[in-house]
Amino acid sequence: ARHDTRHGVAFYASELSEWQQRQNLLERELREAIRSQQFCVYLQPQFDRQGQLRGAEMLLRWQHPERGLLGPDGFIHEAERSGLIRPIGNWVLEQAGQLLAGPLADSQLSLSVNVSVQQLRDEDFVPRIARLINRHAIAPGRLTLEVVESLLLAPRISLQLKALRDLGVELSLDDFGTGYSSLRYLQDFRVDEIKLDKVFIDVLQQCDDAPLARSIIALAKTLGLKLVAEGVETAFQLEYLSRHGVDLVQGYHLAHPEPVADFVMRLQTNPSL
Ligand code: C2E
Ligand code: CA
Ligand code: CA
Ligand code: CA
Repeated sequence: ARHDTRHGVAFYASELSEWQQRQNLLERELREAIRSQQFCVYLQPQFDRQGQLRGAEMLLRWQHPERGLLGPDGFIHEAERSGLIRPIGNWVLEQAGQLLAGPLADSQLSLSVNVSVQQLRDEDFVPRIARLINRHAIAPGRLTLEVVESLLLAPRISLQLKALRDLGVELSLDDFGTGYSSLRYLQDFRVDEIKLDKVFIDVLQQCDDAPLARSIIALAKTLGLKLVAEGVETAFQLEYLSRHGVDLVQGYHLAHPEPVADFVMRLQTNPSL
């Protein structure tokens, strides 16, 4: 019963069933992927203004038996719709715990994990994070949970977020500035960090004043929030962002998302961290 007219598109019955069949197939494949552990995580390094490695964002990948390595854009929507994002997301969190307690244990590095609203709605989510931290004996401040602004952020979610902060994990507001009510969220939810969305980085070009990016940077400073810029693709953007006091940068200009083993190798070549 997914006659989707949200985008002004009305499907004919045959097209609808074809679309539905594709969804069903994808859902079955996702179930199989969970069962036979076809998922993996890539890590995208985050650097501070001195160019020091400070941590990474965990990005989900699917090693599909026929279609090869897939990024989330092709399947995350179906994972959300079917609710399978919960077991998948729990698996990602477990990977974060194992990394922080294992290969990254001797570093000060932190890991950021993307968390969907579906996961936050789960009654067991906060206790699960508490168990994860205890089981792996992780300093909670080394785990950052990235949440996106969403119209679905209901009052109960706000309590969940508060409970998470009480545990000592950090909260990051992802894709900041792209939603309808970014500023309102800053008022209602205490977060530790905001991630300035790539759309604001893209406009940073030579000779450009970029008043919007500058204002958001100033806003973060006024509120005492850590500011991360994502999607940094040029030397000019990097220079601009560090000159204006952005705390952490992430993007292809610095490093692409990479397999865990490659990231761990960075630590060996940079042992002071
Ligand atoms: P996001 O959280 O906004 O993550 C940033 C995306 O931008 C990643 O795409 C990353 O690979 C890409 N990126 C990083 N630097 C650059 C750059 O310089 N230029 C460009 N053009 N892109 C860059 P990716 O890995 O395909 O992930 C897409 C989205 O999927 C993420 O967007 C996030 O919303 C979602 N996602 C990823 N992993 C997870 C997960 O474990 N759980 C959940 N719920 N969502 C996830
Ligand atoms: Ca993110
Ligand atoms: Ca983002
Ligand atoms: Ca995004």
